Amino acid sequence: MKAIIVGGGIMGLSTAWGLARDGHDVELFEQGPLPNPLASSMDEHRLIRHPYGDHVGYAGLIDDAYAAWDLLWRDLGQRLYAATGTLALTGNGADWAERSAATLATIGKPMIELPEADLRRRFPQIEAKGVERAFWTESGGVLFAQDIVAALAHCLARQARVRLHPHTPVRSADLEKGHIVTEAGATHAAEIVVVAAGAWAGRLLPALGRRLLPSRQVVIYFDLPPEARTAWAKGPMIIEKTGDVGLYLVPPMEGRGLKVGDHEFSRSGDPMEERAASEDDIRPLLDRCRSLLHGFDRWRTDRLKVCFYTVTEDERFVVDKQGARGWVMSPCSGHGFKFGALMGLELARTLASDRDARAHARWAAGLAGITST
Ligand SMILES: Cc1cc2nc3c(=O)[nH]c(=O)nc-3n(C[C@H](O)[C@H](O)[C@H](O)COP(=O)(O)OP(=O)(O)OC[C@H]3O[C@@H](n4cnc5c(N)ncnc54)[C@H](O)[C@@H]3O)c2cc1C
Repeated sequence: MKAIIVGGGIMGLSTAWGLARDGHDVELFEQGPLPNPLASSMDEHRLIRHPYGDHVGYAGLIDDAYAAWDLLWRDLGQRLYAATGTLALTGNGADWAERSAATLATIGKPMIELPEADLRRRFPQIEAKGVERAFWTESGGVLFAQDIVAALAHCLARQARVRLHPHTPVRSADLEKGHIVTEAGATHAAEIVVVAAGAWAGRLLPALGRRLLPSRQVVIYFDLPPEARTAWAKGPMIIEKTGDVGLYLVPPMEGRGLKVGDHEFSRSGDPMEERAASEDDIRPLLDRCRSLLHGFDRWRTDRLKVCFYTVTEDERFVVDKQGARGWVMSPCSGHGFKFGALMGLELARTLASDRDARAHARWAAGLAGITST
């Protein structure tokens, strides 16, 4: 079988990897360089963790996601991941951490509740004003996202069955007939066309524009004083919700930066244009950091980065068959990277088998299992 993939982020590249491993031919088109620094997948790190609020479907997929990453590490000959554990903090009426712990208990992965004294003893780098309950699990960590994307692109470039076309924007895709036309006017055909175009999906396929919304997000990288850098070098990852602004903190594992962001969707923005950020974008986050993090007044903002989520109404992933020969692949809503290797492997298996497309879509939406034929 031959497949065309539009988009060289983690989803497109992982699908190409899965197809090539199973002996299929792939042509992948990327509008920018490969990897493209504007892609959502291109940041120093992305988090993987079991706590998932009420989403038992996604929580239940995390072990499969880890297994898929392990397979990728084997193929790449390197492990681009650091374990940190996951600390979920909550208070002031918010209950995401409690709900996560309750959900994980139902699937045999209990979190430990840390009383305040234990929280302070184990994590003295956390000030924790406003935190009422804290839950901990040893599982979870940091995927070195841009290094993974670069290593995967490099690995695929050396494979005989894969042709990569960087700097080749696709102007249109016919998912019924199975062909694409590039901006330069060249037509390419295959049995299957997979559109994994991230926040640009609605530009290529306007009918998707209302379902897959680009959402401009700003993250902060901090320059830490030496004692804070040492204290944070071993984690933990924090997912916090104690008020109007919830935040996540990515610790500076293996020399990467320490990053803080939030999960409030802007549900607007143009991924081609809006890449500048100002202090106004981050003021609420800075205020929250001040109450949460010990010695925060000595931290300095190193840089701000604007990145795009591709958001659905219910935050579930879209991996849908469209037309006789097409698939749209958009596992995002700000939580897709951790499933990148798994989503790619499984889509490759479905494309090459008679596995039911609707069952696949439900699985990717975190709603059900899929079985191999
Ligand atoms: C700030 C931020 C924090 C996040 N944190 C996490 C996290 O902690 N954990 C987690 O699991 N997930 C996280 N995510 C989500 C995760 O990064 C995304 O779900 C994932 O990277 C999406 O990958 P993708 O391949 O679908 O899209 P992208 O990486 O954007 O790739 C799409 C590619 O398609 C190309 N393209 C688009 N249109 C065309 C065209 N017409 N022709 C050719 N090429 C085209 C683009 O140039 C781009 O390279 C976060 C995202 C952001 C922005």
